Amino acid sequence: MKEKISIVVPCYNEQDTLRRLVQEIEKLRTALGACIIELIFVNDGSVDHTLSVMKELSEEDQNISYISFSRNFGKEAAMYAGLCNAQGDYVAVMDADLQDPPELLLQMYDALKTGNYDCAAARRTDRKGEPPIRSWFARRFYRLLTRISDMELLDGVRDYRLMRRSMVDVIIKMHEYNRFSKGIFEWVGFQKCWIEYENTTRNSGNSKWNFWGLTRYAIDGIVNFSEVPLSIASWLGLFMTSVSFLAVVFIVIRKLLMGDPVAGWASTASIIVFIGGLQLFCLGIMGKYLAKVYMETKKRPHFIVAESNIENIKNVG
Ligand code: UDP
Ligand code: MG
Repeated sequence: MKEKISIVVPCYNEQDTLRRLVQEIEKLRTALGACIIELIFVNDGSVDHTLSVMKELSEEDQNISYISFSRNFGKEAAMYAGLCNAQGDYVAVMDADLQDPPELLLQMYDALKTGNYDCAAARRTDRKGEPPIRSWFARRFYRLLTRISDMELLDGVRDYRLMRRSMVDVIIKMHEYNRFSKGIFEWVGFQKCWIEYENTTRNSGNSKWNFWGLTRYAIDGIVNFSEVPLSIASWLGLFMTSVSFLAVVFIVIRKLLMGDPVAGWASTASIIVFIGGLQLFCLGIMGKYLAKVYMETKKRPHFIVAESNIENIKNVG
């Protein structure tokens, strides 16, 4: 029997790119003749005609299915829904905008076929076409996260990858509500190989990320995979206690030696403001973790499917 490759494509307002993507995948079918290629489009609450394009495409080709959410749940939820419903022996996650070159799938498949790897992931060697400030922050973020978590996150790594069934099964068992897939892919381990390529710009449409969105994504990544910020709060507390102890000793000695000149209220006020700020900062860090715990305990679904052409769809997950 032929092996099956499922390609999960999260889509948010991608009406103009889907047909191009299907054409590109079509070109791979001969090279990957030994496999059945299944495409799973996940419509993440698009407000354009993405869903109707998906429906047309799925009518034209029985190997194309679609899942449409009841609203926008975000790319992480869209990937998760696709992974939960993919049937393939191998499963790929790929962006809709052709920024993840489909032809890399051939190399990925070859790599997995050697039997040495469970996952072949794409990695950009450059960030051509991206605003330099965004690249700078992104590099810092990956370096920081690698240092403060127990994973190695390389700069330029994409969600785009081909995984074996065994790895996908483990990933879908990770139900955490706050999903940071790049971290999850690393966290589960398995044998990985990197397929490097030069960055390509979006085929059409716009990136859904703005600077604020990326900052939130970075903070999520850190809070989900590292407890170091909490330790920073404790260490700062310890440091401030030591400093204040020394200050008390200094003040007592000065009082004994020199009496009590009434001076220095400005420095006292500065210290109070400084410590107040520090306390709020630490409280903020704890609040961030608490908010994550709060969302996890609610056990809300990651996504809700409004319609799909997949039989037995897992429609809430
Ligand atoms: N996407 C999604 N839901 C969202 C935002 C984005 O499913 O809320 C999809 C989008 O359609 C695309 C992929 O995620 O297929 C990557 O998005 P984008 O190209 O905007 O990100 P970038 O490539 O700039 O990182
Ligand atoms: Mg993109």
